[in-house]
Amino acid sequence: MRTPAEPVTSMEAAESTDPTEAAQSLETTADDETTADAAPSALPALWRLPFELAWRAFRAGSRPVGAVLRGPDGAVVALGRNRSREAVAPPGQLAGSDIAHAEINVLAQLPGGRDYYDHRLYTTLEPCLLCSSALINAHVGGVVYASPDPVWKEVADLPRVGGIVARRWVPRSGPAPGPLAVLGALLMDLWNARHAPSTPGGCGYPTLAARCLRIEGLLEADCAETAYQLLLPSIRTALNGTHREAHQQAHRRA
Ligand SMILES: [Zn+2]
Repeated sequence: MRTPAEPVTSMEAAESTDPTEAAQSLETTADDETTADAAPSALPALWRLPFELAWRAFRAGSRPVGAVLRGPDGAVVALGRNRSREAVAPPGQLAGSDIAHAEINVLAQLPGGRDYYDHRLYTTLEPCLLCSSALINAHVGGVVYASPDPVWKEVADLPRVGGIVARRWVPRSGPAPGPLAVLGALLMDLWNARHAPSTPGGCGYPTLAARCLRIEGLLEADCAETAYQLLLPSIRTALNGTHREAHQQAHRRA
């Protein structure tokens, strides 16, 4: 386990205990945010690592959600991903459980007895009830999500119950602009289309996801950037209105 003062500098370092995953290094310093947007269609720097983790989860058969905790200077302090359908996790993280969520696997790495109110969690999908509670108990200052999750949309109303839930509720912001607001939800529906096709509605793009599964090379994409490039035409179709109903449903609360 690392301490929050020791930023993670690579995927290799973060996932070196997982023998099933390639030791692909991905620098994740705050400098990325000022230099990595040169390619207009590339994943924005802040979201590159969360989506890389989500795609790794998808490739491993787990639900495709990735999350990264950044400290006040922007450095990555901890990262994690969903491992619900896998047998192996780095020490201190969960695998093979329905609560092996990305956010849980990030927050479980944080030493207790202190707060992280100057830290922000970046996650590809809006936190569920479980992870929203974990954020409160981990004393994190804020959460930023790429895609809304219509499955758990009522969770954001929880502060209305008042009391300690309202006082300690972790502020959330999202969705991310443009295609990213679709990407996180579409990844979930890709997973549903492969592993749980009877899931009603999913994250708003079940029909689109079923078609995307037939994109040549998608399932073999070795990184999130490649998958994103392959999915972008379909995502833009969704944004342009062919799938407006699903899109609007996903953004109703945004
Ligand atoms: Zn969750």
